[in-house]
Amino acid sequence: MSRGGIDLGGTKIQAAVVDGDGRVIGEARHPTPVEGGPPAVALQMAETMREAARSAGVEPSALEGVGVGSPGDVDARAGTVANARNLTGWLDAFSLSSTLSDQLGTKVKLGNDVGVATMAEAELGAGRERRSLLGVFWGTGVGGGVVLGRKLWKGRGAAGEIGHTVVRRGGARCSCGRRGCLEAYAGRATMEARARREVKRGTHTDLFKIMEKRGRTRLTSGIWARALDRGDPLAAKLLDRAVAALGTGIASAVNLLDVEAVVLGGGLGVRLGPLYLDAIRAEMAEHLFVAGQPPDLRVVELGDLGGAIGASLLVRP
Ligand SMILES: [Zn+2]
Repeated sequence: MSRGGIDLGGTKIQAAVVDGDGRVIGEARHPTPVEGGPPAVALQMAETMREAARSAGVEPSALEGVGVGSPGDVDARAGTVANARNLTGWLDAFSLSSTLSDQLGTKVKLGNDVGVATMAEAELGAGRERRSLLGVFWGTGVGGGVVLGRKLWKGRGAAGEIGHTVVRRGGARCSCGRRGCLEAYAGRATMEARARREVKRGTHTDLFKIMEKRGRTRLTSGIWARALDRGDPLAAKLLDRAVAALGTGIASAVNLLDVEAVVLGGGLGVRLGPLYLDAIRAEMAEHLFVAGQPPDLRVVELGDLGGAIGASLLVRP
């Protein structure tokens, strides 16, 4: 029986319908609404799921269920999401599960976005032969998921926040309000803020010209990639800085957990990961305690669909 999965991201909503063998048989995506708060986002999620179901030739109500990978504080039992800081106006707890369930006519289960994407890679993607794995999702922020003994390690609910490991004491200001976190250097949002400050100081860059030409209001992964292609020095500099921070943070996590593999995903990870894997490995080598036994570092295999596929695993019978 087929299942639905929705990946709720800061910029896009990705839905997929997955068959019993984990194959994607339908998908759809839409930008995440930036107005109207959680109700508007939930409506768009339901519409995106209906579209994916249509493309798979199934009724949403005929799905085994729909899993959702969400940012913020996910209370799977209560079916609520709170403090989704990458989404507009979503701080209070919102009953996402029951809202979607009413819209789609099937059961809906919630999970942490990064956790489900990590499990998708651990079961069906780049980590499928591994018992232990660290998933690093390099996008708007930097998220992480830890798989130990083939199970997602949730800690007390907040495990895996590799983006907020400190790579420099007293360093750059992070989106979390603290200083020196990995995300303060590598998160797309903080990289964009830094680029805007540099432009104000007179630094030349094509980043914002490309953004305007594409009719966007944010520096998406594609815009960073394009600027890099064009040899934009500011884009290259900020990406080098991000990559150095990633290598440092990942190596520290590996020193603690000694995982077999590290998979790099997220918008920037999928698009720029192949280009930067060697640079990340080189930076990691500087910090790995057991230098002769680095983990296998690779880019996610399920790409942009990993989050939605992983979400669908939440409603497995
Ligand atoms: Zn932080």
